[in-house]
Amino acid sequence: MIKLSKSSIGGEEKKAVVEVLDKEYLGMGEDVKEFESLLQDFFGRHVVCVVNGTAALHLALQGCGIGVGDEVLVPSLTYVASFQAISATGAKPVACDVSIKTLSLDFNDVENRITKNTKAIMPVHFTGSVGDLEQIYNIAEKYNLRVIEDAAHAFGSIHKSKLVGSFGDIACFSFDGIKNITSGEGGCIVSDDPVFIKLVKDARLLGVHNDSENRYTGKRTWSFDVTHQGWRYHMSNIMAAIGIQQFRKLEKFKLIRQSHAKLYDSLLNDNPKLKTLQNDYSAILPHIYVVRVLGMNEESRSHLRARLWDAGIETGHHYQLNHNLSFFKDSSIISLHNSEQLSSELITLPLHIDLTESDIRYVSAKLQEYL
Ligand SMILES: *Cc1c(COP(=O)(O)O)cnc(C)c1O
Repeated sequence: MIKLSKSSIGGEEKKAVVEVLDKEYLGMGEDVKEFESLLQDFFGRHVVCVVNGTAALHLALQGCGIGVGDEVLVPSLTYVASFQAISATGAKPVACDVSIKTLSLDFNDVENRITKNTKAIMPVHFTGSVGDLEQIYNIAEKYNLRVIEDAAHAFGSIHKSKLVGSFGDIACFSFDGIKNITSGEGGCIVSDDPVFIKLVKDARLLGVHNDSENRYTGKRTWSFDVTHQGWRYHMSNIMAAIGIQQFRKLEKFKLIRQSHAKLYDSLLNDNPKLKTLQNDYSAILPHIYVVRVLGMNEESRSHLRARLWDAGIETGHHYQLNHNLSFFKDSSIISLHNSEQLSSELITLPLHIDLTESDIRYVSAKLQEYL
């Protein structure tokens, strides 16, 4: 079976985990500090490591003071994590449409959905590409909104010569098992706003003031005050040890993922039934490889995916639209035209580090044969 996605773990990660186990200090300590400082040098900004990408989004929203009565604009075409992180604060996720061209937020639709309760925009960097991010920041400036980038797909992506996360307001990344790099589970928040970072650092350790600094040196805080709601969202040393080794492989992983995506593009670009995304795979680091099958519906996609499965190929569909899920159904959302059309036309093909060139040729050939 050619897997849709998987982790790529070598002897380095295994050795690093055993070293943490041998130290018998498993929680948040010096390894987390080391991983954070590597990431801080990488982004040139403050970084806070947490237990997963969803927690990163939740803490980022809370750190912006977002809560009950507030609205956050987010594309419906995203993983349910983006929506759940918003609703976890008590705020309302307001589903927006995406652009047919970029599959990221449609900035005109975003502007139309702003109300007096809107506090933030959460663009999602679908597949690793940021879409019309400049226009999103222009709108945010015009209406005085925070921007929390769901950059879970985009760790290591470059946009206009700048690393995603190294500019803008706030970026949240995921290090779950199948993302561009992994720490087992894990995630991080990146920003250069020191007031925000202080709030987030305390909130990841139950709101205990300055506990992070003590934990880095293996100590605990025994007498403290708490002024805000906090959570147990910190990263552990075991996770950080894996993350550090994966981070060292980033350039290698990047070249492999980019060359896989370029090969898919070259094999699929000329098929009139398909539309490949207009991603620049010399700049972005793709987390997933998605194509549009023109005119496909839910039923024909199920059929296609079943046939590919029988040929030994696992595929996916990113994503079901969130505003159609029971918990997030919203009668005030009028048709998200592009999202509705796209969501049944998209199919995700295998993309991971251990895929071979012949796997990609086989997947592309079978896909086109079945079309
Ligand atoms: C993976 C992902 C997340 C959440 O990250 P976790 O580490 O799985 O919690 C959020 N948004 C998107 C778009 C993702 O793909």
